[in-house]
Order: sequence, then structure tokens, then C-alpha cells
Amino acid sequence: MLTPDQVTAQAIPPLESVDILVVGGGTAGAVAGIAAGRTGYRSLVIEQLGFLGGTQTGALVTPMMPNQVEGRPLNGGIDWEINQRLNRAMESGVWKDGNRGWFNPEMLKVTLEQMVIESGGHLLYYTLVEDVVVEGGAIQGIVIANKAGRSWIRAQRVIDCTGDGDVAARAGVPFASGDPETGINQPFSVRFHLGNVDLDRLAAYLQSLGRCDVMPTAEGSAVPLIHTAMVWGRGWTLEPLFRQAVAEGVLQESDGEYFQVFTMAGRPGELAFNCPRISEQVDGTNPWHLTQAQVRGRQIIQRYVAFCRRYLPGCEGAYLVLSAPLVGVRESRRIQGEYVLTAEDVLGARKFPDGIACNNYPIDIHRPTQDQRPGLTHLPPGTYHEIPYRCLVPLGVEHLLVAGRCLSASFEAQGSVRVQSNCRAMGEAAAVACGLSLDLGISPRQVNGMTLRQTLIDRGARLTPVSQPEPVV
Ligand SMILES: Cc1cc2nc3c(=O)[nH]c(=O)nc-3n(C[C@H](O)[C@H](O)[C@H](O)COP(=O)(O)OP(=O)(O)OC[C@H]3O[C@@H](n4cnc5c(N)ncnc54)[C@H](O)[C@@H]3O)c2cc1C
Repeated sequence: MLTPDQVTAQAIPPLESVDILVVGGGTAGAVAGIAAGRTGYRSLVIEQLGFLGGTQTGALVTPMMPNQVEGRPLNGGIDWEINQRLNRAMESGVWKDGNRGWFNPEMLKVTLEQMVIESGGHLLYYTLVEDVVVEGGAIQGIVIANKAGRSWIRAQRVIDCTGDGDVAARAGVPFASGDPETGINQPFSVRFHLGNVDLDRLAAYLQSLGRCDVMPTAEGSAVPLIHTAMVWGRGWTLEPLFRQAVAEGVLQESDGEYFQVFTMAGRPGELAFNCPRISEQVDGTNPWHLTQAQVRGRQIIQRYVAFCRRYLPGCEGAYLVLSAPLVGVRESRRIQGEYVLTAEDVLGARKFPDGIACNNYPIDIHRPTQDQRPGLTHLPPGTYHEIPYRCLVPLGVEHLLVAGRCLSASFEAQGSVRVQSNCRAMGEAAAVACGLSLDLGISPRQVNGMTLRQTLIDRGARLTPVSQPEPVV
């Protein structure tokens, strides 16, 4: 952490001065960038990769999990706008039970980028946070590193959307990471795509086995919807094939710990895999762990590709399209904010006056091995809870907010609210809160949560006005 005087003493050149700086252009950050641009204040998104979308596009995490009650989505606002744009372009479709978050990650990159530019916001890719500049308990900007060397960006407000809370941690905000009992983080996944697959033949084969999701034509897409999985001992119909493949040396026993496959809207002939899973050395803030995950992941992917070609009808001529350039990190730092969301809040369907997003996705914690996995813990049917604004307001540092999976939540609660539509909603709320705080000349901590909630409602969020005692969807 540096003071402005230290920045001067170290001759770190200034690069930019902005009103709202979004750090990390991922699931939450891209939406924060769009919302920040729409405030009319000068805004900038910096991102270590050369595109937006983060885990959605770089870690190839498709589709968006459902966050809806009786088929009605709980998230609106920019999340809804993005999905509508993709739907119109046939680059997204309806996943199970009316969930519209079944998308083509490549088209999501383009859509997010266009929306940031249209909003009047600015982008700087290939740029990593190196340090933070803090004075008098308030963040003043960040030091960045990129091909041009070191420089710093002065900012009136900073939103940490790095997924790992990199900015907040460097600014001294307390945080937790991993399961409080073991300290272990949820497993990583290194996802991949397979091309040249005859999806109709594969779908017919999987249907003949039973227990899989196959819809010949998913609404809004020309691609058949296929979803299946295999986990040892869980009754999946692919288990005998996996047993045979292990016996014949094509797969290893550990490859059957978690195997899952989907099709993607807008990508005929392709499959997206939610595996391999990496369960050891899974600290998402440790570059050695991330490197090891990529290396091991690519080795395991070779086995999965061989398995598909040899045993799955329709995959005989398949080839590896790509392995994810970004390791899929489910959970790392969870910053400590003004409020820590708990499992009781989630499962008790708790509402908050400063609620900025609604969620009913279950608590979904992946464990190193499947026999340790409790499965999904659902909210009572037909209910949802809210995420309060205070979960985005870190302790101890002014003019800084966080959004995304690194929000202030317990390990269990994070295992529920980390899904993509919530991360988007948090990104939008954080940027709108920054806009309000600049309008009023106050710190984001002082922004009235109920005013923020109403402002989000005015912008299309599916929240109910606080005056209603019993919010309805
Ligand atoms: C394997 C896996 C499967 C999942 N399955 C689903 C699913 O099916 N459906 C669903 O809805 N959710 C799923 N999730 C959860 C969800 O995808 C993530 O929780 C969510 O996308 C995280 O969003 P985020 O904005 O917090 O982080 P990210 O989307 O990861 O964004 C962080 C961004 O910050 C950038 N960044 C990081 N550090 C720096 C830095 N220091 N400087 C500059 N840039 C930086 C990154 O490059 C990235 O673009 C899954 C997650 C994983 C890992």
C-alpha cells in the first residue's frame, strides 16, 4: 500500500484520472463498467486479459445457473439487457425451466465490450493491479503494471471486481478464504470445448441411456440442448462406460470424480465441459497453484478427449477447440464488509432494507471428493433472499466497493450467491452506488441503502420497494 507521496517519491508516472475505476472486467466488472459509464461520470475498466466477461468467457463457464422463482427471473437491469441482446442474436437460448442464461461465451465478449463503449465508459486491457494508493483511510487510486511499465491511475471511487478481492486485500481490508473448518478452498475447474461433434447422434445416444437433459431444439436456439454428467456412485448412466475406460487405460479413476457436459447456444457441433476438476493446491490467489492447475488440467483434458472420441457416439471425429485461458476459481478471498451474509440469511429467505439483489440459487459447495459433497441445500420452495448493499462495502477503507464472488459472505452463503446473475447485479449496484456517492459528495459507505435500492428499481432491477412489508416476486 502506498501513499500519494510515496508514489511521487518512486517516480511512478500518472496515467489517467477517472471518477469511477472498475478493477477487473469479469462477470461483475463488465456490468459495473456499463453501469458506471451510464452514470455520466468518467469511468474506466482495467482488465488483466484482452476481453471482458472473466469467468464467463475466460474460464468458459456456461450456462448461467437459474436464479428464478416459478420461472420468473429474480435479476433484471443490465443482466436482463445482456441476455436479451444475446437472445435476439440467437447467441443465447432458454436453458431448463425458462432460464434464459444459456449463452455463447465468444458472443458475450463482443456484447459486453459494445455495451461498455455505448455507455461512454473506457477500457484498458492487459493491465494488472500492482498496488493501491491510500491516504487518510481512503483509496486514491491504484498502481498498475502492463507492457508500458508501471504507472498509476487516480480515481475518486474504485470498485474491486477482481473476483479475488485483490484491491481490497492490498488496501488492508480484512478477509477470509476457504472453509472455516479446514481452510480449504473449493476445487478449481479447467474447462474446455470439443468441436466437430454430431450433436443429434450424441443426443439420441444419451436419451437411449436415460437420465440426461436433452431438448431437440432449445427455445431461441438452433442448437439442441444437451446436459449430462458422471460422478462415481451417483447413478449416472455413463458410469459403465467410465468403468470400461478406466479398465482400458483411457481414463484414470480420479477422472470420474466430476464430469459434466453441456451444449452451448450459438455453437452447433460443440460441447462445453465443466471439468476437469482440480482439488489440490486450489488457492486462487497463488500463481503457482494457478499454473499447476493449467498444466494438470490440460493433461486430464487429453484423456477426456480420447474418452469422448472412443466411447461416445457422435464424437468420433471430435477435436479439442480450446482449453480455458483462465482457471475456474469458485471461491478465494471473501472480503469483510459492513455486513457478512450468512447461510441463515440465505436459507431463511431474509430480506434487507438495503437489498440490491435477490437470490434463490441453493448453497452449492464443491468438495475435493464427491463423497464429501453434501449436494445442494435449497431455500424453501418459492422463496428467495436478498443481498444487502453492506456486503459490498468493505471495512476500513473509504471510496472502495467490491462486487462479485469476493463479496462479504460466509463460506456457505458465498456458495449460493456466487452465481453469475448475482455477480452482475452486484456490479451494477456498486457502480450506481458510486454514482450516487459522487452526486452527493459522500463516501459510498454513507450512501443510503434504501435510496440505492429505489434507484436500482428505477433502472429495471427486480426488487420490490422497501415500503412493502412482504416483498413479492
Ligand atoms: C468451474 C466453475 C463453474 C461454475 N458454474 C457456474 C454455472 O454453471 N453457472 C453460474 O451462474 N455460475 C457458475 N459459477 C460461478 C460464477 O461463474 C462465478 O462465481 C462468477 O462468474 C464470478 O464473477 P466475478 O465477477 O466475481 O469474477 P470473474 O468473472 O472471474 O471476474 C474477475 C475479473 O478480474 C480480472 N482480474 C483478476 N485479478 C485482476 C487483477 N489483479 N488485475 C486486473 N484484472 C484482474 C480477471 O481476469 C477477471 O476478468 C461457476 C464458477 C466456476 C469457477
